[in-house]
Amino acid sequence: MATLFGGGLLFDGESGPHAGLGLLAEHGRILRVAPLAAFEGVACTRIDTTGATLMPGLIDCHVHLCSSSDPGFFATILSTPRERASLQVLQAARQSLRGGVTSLRDLGGFEFTEMPVRDAFREGRELGPTLVCAGKSITMTGGHAYLLSIEIDGAAAAVSAVRQNIKRGADVVKLIATGGVATPGLDPLAAHLTREELTAAVEEARRLGRRSAAHAQGAPGILNAVEAGVDSIEHGFQITDELAALMVARGTFLVPTLSAIARTLDNAEGRMPAHLLEKSLRFRDMQRESFRRFLAAGGRIAMGTDAGTPFNLHGGNAQELLEMTALGMSPARALHAATAAAAELLGLADRGRLCEGYAADLLLVDGDPVADIAAAADPRHHRGVWKDGYDVHALLGRPGPVPGAPRFLAGEAPF
Ligand SMILES: [Zn+2]
Repeated sequence: MATLFGGGLLFDGESGPHAGLGLLAEHGRILRVAPLAAFEGVACTRIDTTGATLMPGLIDCHVHLCSSSDPGFFATILSTPRERASLQVLQAARQSLRGGVTSLRDLGGFEFTEMPVRDAFREGRELGPTLVCAGKSITMTGGHAYLLSIEIDGAAAAVSAVRQNIKRGADVVKLIATGGVATPGLDPLAAHLTREELTAAVEEARRLGRRSAAHAQGAPGILNAVEAGVDSIEHGFQITDELAALMVARGTFLVPTLSAIARTLDNAEGRMPAHLLEKSLRFRDMQRESFRRFLAAGGRIAMGTDAGTPFNLHGGNAQELLEMTALGMSPARALHAATAAAAELLGLADRGRLCEGYAADLLLVDGDPVADIAAAADPRHHRGVWKDGYDVHALLGRPGPVPGAPRFLAGEAPF
């Protein structure tokens, strides 16, 4: 039977909150969004949203499901047997879904172990979020994240690496345009893959119907990646006024991943490697300024967290909304970045908005997240999550107090 949500507010992915609207869904699809009076007499199950806001499920454009977010994550991932690695992906993806995230883009996995999990969700064999997967990152020999990536030198090798990823099921291509924070001894501001290598990879990806995302922190690498035609710049520590104008002109998205450095520094007292702490401290303010500059320039921003980096927990993704609004982004724009804008970047044509014909990926939060972003950013304020119409909290449990906790049904005791 169809289900009608009504009584409270509605944020449709673009605008809101709107009062007085009802949303009717059936068989995992949104049938209609209209003034509540239009549904009088319709035979359906009714869910009262009074005191709450119905919005699209959140979309995280940058995660690493293969990682359990521990300080030594590269070594942990590499020492994981492959048959166990897919289980890690499954648990991380479901933990994210419990936390209100109904679609995720994995930008760098481990030995393609995320692909069977993505397929199980996609084919409805298991309940999980929509996954858009890059397979392995493509980096220069010895470049950032080389331990988990395909290492290449030259344009022909870049083309080959794109094809290898697509052969194994990649939906999107991830390119490493600069050094990074997490790899010891590498400078995040140094350009890595060359303009020629990036261009060859982006063009091959596009020819085969895939989009490209570039890990790019320093300005020279950001310029290389934007000129090569990538769809999104990930992290973007050093977006100058000139680069912001170029990205706006070309429509290039920024996926800020502010949570990565924030969670590392929040947990500085832990077992954090020295190089990670040192670089996080050194680049935090640069990244914040870069974000503010791009925001002021009117650039397109899509939410991404880099979940899987230390203490950046799967299921805690929504916290990125707090990070973005703390730097001056309005709550409405942050919600748009986490829904409709993110769906646009990921090419998810029927998600990220509450419109007729779209998937019933829904998040119901207490109060009004446009007035107080914490309503969406803190899963404790989430009243419900629906994935393609399935009630996630009823089927998988509410988000646990500790994301990644071993209990399948977090918060429930066995009989
Ligand atoms: Zn990442």
